Amino acid sequence: MRVYNFAAGPSTLPLEVLEQSRNEMLDYNGTGMSVVEMSHRSKPFQAVNDEAQSLLRELMNVPDNYYVLFVQGGASQQFAAVPLNLMKNKKADYIVTGNFAGKAQKEATIYGDAAIAASSKDKNFTYIPDVDKISFREGIDYVHITSNNTIFGTKYNKFPEVDCLVADMSSNILSEPVDVSKFGLIYAGAQKNIAPAGVTLVIVRKDLVDDQEPLACCPTMLKYSVQAKENSLYNTPPCYGIYMSMLMFRWLKKMGGVAEMQKINEYKAGLLYDFIDNSSFYTNPVVAADRSIMNVPFVTGSEEMDAKFVKEATAAGLVSLKGHRLVGGMRASIYNSMPVEGVKALIDFMKKFEMENK
Ligand SMILES: *Cc1c(COP(=O)(O)O)cnc(C)c1O
Repeated sequence: MRVYNFAAGPSTLPLEVLEQSRNEMLDYNGTGMSVVEMSHRSKPFQAVNDEAQSLLRELMNVPDNYYVLFVQGGASQQFAAVPLNLMKNKKADYIVTGNFAGKAQKEATIYGDAAIAASSKDKNFTYIPDVDKISFREGIDYVHITSNNTIFGTKYNKFPEVDCLVADMSSNILSEPVDVSKFGLIYAGAQKNIAPAGVTLVIVRKDLVDDQEPLACCPTMLKYSVQAKENSLYNTPPCYGIYMSMLMFRWLKKMGGVAEMQKINEYKAGLLYDFIDNSSFYTNPVVAADRSIMNVPFVTGSEEMDAKFVKEATAAGLVSLKGHRLVGGMRASIYNSMPVEGVKALIDFMKKFEMENK
């Protein structure tokens, strides 16, 4: 029996995408073999790689002056790859709005002067700093942000206007339209809102790759120029993850694309936040204007009660609701693939649990 899986990542995928991958597991498209077994240099796989890339370009309206790369190593590898490729002046500013943003900044200090331009640590990352009030330093190579903070449940609604904005979009890529042309580079681990773990998406403006050299110590594998030149096939890519991404992109297109997903995501998140705000039993600590529509943390105010909630929810088929250890309580991750019915089932359970335990 399938459950409603609220995990933050790896996370739930649409049933029809899983069914299609199952149906094609032994024989992909008449090739007599699985994509798992297929040479990454073969024509059928090249077609998968190309379709995944062109669908992503279409869904995100990626301008022609950007490369789209499928790489490995997760978003955490990009914490290093970004400075290694872009820090020609060895100077960058970071906005620290959570755990991953902090890790990205810390990693960049290995390679250069990576300063914290603003942080929301003072209030346990429950808000996004006002980007209009931040003064960035002169001579920086880029500003790095985390567009959605998976653990703390916040997101940017407005981006800093700078020459080179780099965004970790791991947990909200494809959840709502973004103007790619406002960014120098966007990266995202696939395992939250796209596909299984193993693929990391990088969208990077061509001039940042073509007109400058990475730092001398940059490993070949991490050079965007190498990955771009080889169309992400410098070495063996995460073939199956790219195939699953392609299936997800097809599904997103069928659903009406990213603008349509935004409506559904806002509807789902709205149901949950409204319920929490109208309840005297559950609370969400995030400043209302900065709330994520992907990750919704909430608490009852008692650790024992939270543990009881998670246990009973699991028994009711609503799983992986335990909050991150840095926040405690519960967290419902409601990415693109979480159906409206899943969120409604969660709210029904929350109502029932409140009545029984108040
Ligand atoms: C999960 C996550 C990461 C870490 O991703 P890995 O692919 O596990 O390295 C980084 N940034 C954000 C915003 C995340 O949600």
